[in-house]
Amino acid sequence: MSFTLVLLGPPGAGKGTQAARVRKIWGIPHISTGAILRDAVREATPLGRRIEAVMASGGLIDDDLITRIVCERLDQADARGGCILDGFPRTIPQAESLDQFIAGRPPLVIVDVELSDEDVLRRLAARMICAECGTNSEDVDTSARCHNCGGPLVPRADDAEAVVRNRLHVYRRQTAPLISFYGARPTFRQVDGAQLFDDVTRDLVRAVESAAG
Ligand code: AMP
Repeated sequence: MSFTLVLLGPPGAGKGTQAARVRKIWGIPHISTGAILRDAVREATPLGRRIEAVMASGGLIDDDLITRIVCERLDQADARGGCILDGFPRTIPQAESLDQFIAGRPPLVIVDVELSDEDVLRRLAARMICAECGTNSEDVDTSARCHNCGGPLVPRADDAEAVVRNRLHVYRRQTAPLISFYGARPTFRQVDGAQLFDDVTRDLVRAVESAAG
């Protein structure tokens, strides 16, 4: 089975958590645009300095810039046989560029992880990430350490409530139209993101296997 999996869904739907779980099943890399951009900000690279303010406000960075970053990553050897895209595409122009880029490669499988605005706000108020390596934690106990590197857990800067409300607004206006963009494709599926993480994982694996099979 060979495919590129696009995970759609609002912030907090669990795309990153689920991608980190299922990538091991298929042995394909997890490409998170948010993680790539947060690393650039943390390391204060020229890219990081350029995008820092937009990310802090919960807005989207420029389509051409993010598309270039993703296409370069997709061209690396480990991603040519398939990967999981988490956080890309986020606009119709990004989705059109992705279609062009992967022409001739295995087809896209698109899974929309659904979550209501109320659940998004509740989940993100409790979410913690590692201050050192950026890994998402499923553990809301602030005394716990990162399961990846042992670093301290902190709230994500853009999970502050005012920023989350803007991210949700941006999601509904610019990203949710992708559900119609992809909806008629035979490889499009939806799963209920409000379930327990294990149940979402089960449904996601089934959805991908039925779409790619
Ligand atoms: P995420 O971790 O996916 O929630 O992304 C965090 C932030 O990174 C977003 O709020 C945007 O500012 C930026 N970002 C991530 N992916 C994209 C994308 N595909 N297009 C534009 N901005 C993005």
